[in-house]
Amino acid sequence: MDVTFLGTGAPWAQGRQTMGLYVTAPGCEPLLIDTCGGFAVVEQLRRAGADPRGVRNVFITHRHHDHAGGVPALLLGGLPLQLHGTPHTLAAIRDLMKSGFPEWTEPAGTAYIEVPARGMCEIGGLAVETVPVEHRVETVGIRVRAGGRTLAFGADSLPCEGLDTCAGDADMFICDAIWQEDGAERAHQLMHATAAEAGRAATAGGAGQLLLVHLGARAEPAAMLAEAQATFRGPVRIPDDLDRVAM
Ligand SMILES: [Zn+2]
Ligand SMILES: [Zn+2]
Repeated sequence: MDVTFLGTGAPWAQGRQTMGLYVTAPGCEPLLIDTCGGFAVVEQLRRAGADPRGVRNVFITHRHHDHAGGVPALLLGGLPLQLHGTPHTLAAIRDLMKSGFPEWTEPAGTAYIEVPARGMCEIGGLAVETVPVEHRVETVGIRVRAGGRTLAFGADSLPCEGLDTCAGDADMFICDAIWQEDGAERAHQLMHATAAEAGRAATAGGAGQLLLVHLGARAEPAAMLAEAQATFRGPVRIPDDLDRVAM
């Protein structure tokens, strides 16, 4: 299984698009998890060497536009997307299309597929598990299994039991860490984790390695790495946009 980081930032991050992960595995259809913040998703897929026209399966962790905002861009391209999310998130995506492009007819074959906040499903040959996490709106973390490996993405979340569960025995845990500990109060107001808290979740879950994403405008990567390494003994890294990591 490979993951390409199309975007690794929060809104207003410098030099980073907002969250988008492109997951591929032998014998399975590609899965796009979150969609950057808008039309950037198309260009990021191209820059990553993936054909945007090949995107079918999309999973949206929550309704915030830094995650869901690329869906209209993909639908405008005529792609018959299979959009996966909780009913709350799918309703928001429908509203996003209706408000922005009310005249647009969605491509034939477009499907809105409800997933439970906690449960299992199969998407294009990938085994997918969803776990509710704690954020300002209904949000789910996602665990993807293929070839005996587990990739976990905690979406946007405060430190919570759900985040620890999401990290559980994952070979790779990708975690929201908006910035370092000196901004913890603001991070918590926004219902995000800090780097140290991402490390604690990875430790609690027994994850193999930790990747910090969703860096905000105040993020200082060197400090974040040091703080996460103080709370998690495994490998920690901060991927850049368009990095591709094999697992
Ligand atoms: Zn959010
Ligand atoms: Zn976000």
